[in-house]
Amino acid sequence: MNFVGGNWETSAATQTIPVRNPATGEVIAAAPLSSAADVAKAVDAASKAWQSWRRVPPGDRIQPLFRLKALLDANFNEIAKLVTQECGKTLAESEGELKRGIENVEVATGIPSLMMGSNLEDIASGIDELMIRQPVGVVGVITPFNFPGMIPLWFLPYAVACGNTVVLKPSEKTPLTMARILQLVEQSGFPPGVINLVHGGKEAVDALLDHPDVRAISFVGSTPVARYVYGRAAANGKRVQCQGGAKNPIVVLPDADMEMTTRIVADSAFGCAGQRCLASSIVIAVSDAAAPFTKQISEAAASRKVGYGLEKGTEMGPVITPESRTRIEGLIAKGIAAGARPLVDGRNAKIPGYEKGNFVKPTVLADVDPASELARTEVFGPVLSVMRADSVEAAIELVNNSPYGNMACLFTTSGAAARQFRYETRVGNVGINVGVAAPMAYFPFSGWKDSFFGDLHAQGRDAIDFYTEKKVVVERWPSTWSRKF
Ligand code: NAD
Repeated sequence: MNFVGGNWETSAATQTIPVRNPATGEVIAAAPLSSAADVAKAVDAASKAWQSWRRVPPGDRIQPLFRLKALLDANFNEIAKLVTQECGKTLAESEGELKRGIENVEVATGIPSLMMGSNLEDIASGIDELMIRQPVGVVGVITPFNFPGMIPLWFLPYAVACGNTVVLKPSEKTPLTMARILQLVEQSGFPPGVINLVHGGKEAVDALLDHPDVRAISFVGSTPVARYVYGRAAANGKRVQCQGGAKNPIVVLPDADMEMTTRIVADSAFGCAGQRCLASSIVIAVSDAAAPFTKQISEAAASRKVGYGLEKGTEMGPVITPESRTRIEGLIAKGIAAGARPLVDGRNAKIPGYEKGNFVKPTVLADVDPASELARTEVFGPVLSVMRADSVEAAIELVNNSPYGNMACLFTTSGAAARQFRYETRVGNVGINVGVAAPMAYFPFSGWKDSFFGDLHAQGRDAIDFYTEKKVVVERWPSTWSRKF
């Protein structure tokens, strides 16, 4: 059901799509594909709520966020389980995701300080200038399937704390987590219409992009859709931030701590079954690093326990849909046809008891041609392509040749190499001896090139800049006037 103006409502959708548990294949819900009229109703509720919400003092606006944080903590285990059921990741991964989401609620409670403006007296004699921040209006938030709890929380808390109202459209593949979190929103004391939820697919997205009362769009998803959303919303005069896809490389130097490196790279490549925009999918092994790295990563890949994320001991779950599995296996086949050597081949995985699940086991391919389709396409599955370079410079060149720029990591014990890497790589998030350079909520979630469209990223200071309009006021109050009293 949609949540509009404080009420749970049946969508006017004539079509629904089944939501399946990716590990069991079982249908667990049906997501309505809401119509443009459903979206218009939600935008209307959000516009009306905005008139009064923007006048609520910031210190009062954050009170429901404190209650939401407490409710998220109190219902943590249940929501984490729901994430695993609809998304497939392991329970530990779902717990990690939820923790990172809640962190954003915590940071957004600092808005009264973060949203402060600035001023300067006497910019000319007797004239003062000040900058104040005001909310933008109704914000449309459109999110992907792979972090159904965390990614909406990259946006909602900051948007509403800054005085905006929100219409959220989660992924139709994983709609249940936010439907549950919206029940907690309802209990948190936000006035009706401040946060609205509309389930749906392309029609609902297009309606948000075209509605004149939606002033800003926060989007996360694949690069082709991010580019489309950015173009259409910007052409309609909206403020837009669109985080897109990725193809993330990790560079391993021969001086790296190889045991630590392989353990971390395995987590980076195979965590969440590779369905993360910060997953590594390429390793560039520099000179002598190649032999020990490929041996150890192959062992790590082959021994990873794949299964249902709710079962104890499972280290990796399924991918989201059967179509996704077919696409991933197709890309592996193309890579092999283009000359890659399969060291561990995870295709045709059979998990006893879960024959209807969408499982692809960890896969490692060596000698991958950097120009091949496999090397340049976002796989979004547990597939690691290993290639070689003769020097740090050659490795950085390979990193920078990618059309994407979400993340790059380096494993080394050399500070000079680390600094060179940090300085020269054209990516938005850099990891040095860490596998996933996911920023904390008080830093922006960056992303460059085809991994991001817009100017201001999610989280941190960027969130405040995105969700507020700056107004600059120049004032003159001649002292002669005050002498009348
Ligand atoms: P997706 O692009 O298929 O869908 C994202 C959202 O867009 C969903 O809400 C969906 O309903 C909507 N959508 C899909 N097709 C559309 C269309 N043609 N027109 C209008 N709206 C459309 O992405 P996904 O498969 O759900 O998520 C995986 C992708 O998201 C990967 O590419 C991943 O790298 C990316 N991602 C990026 C980040 C980041 O921070 N950069 C984070 C997570 C995921």
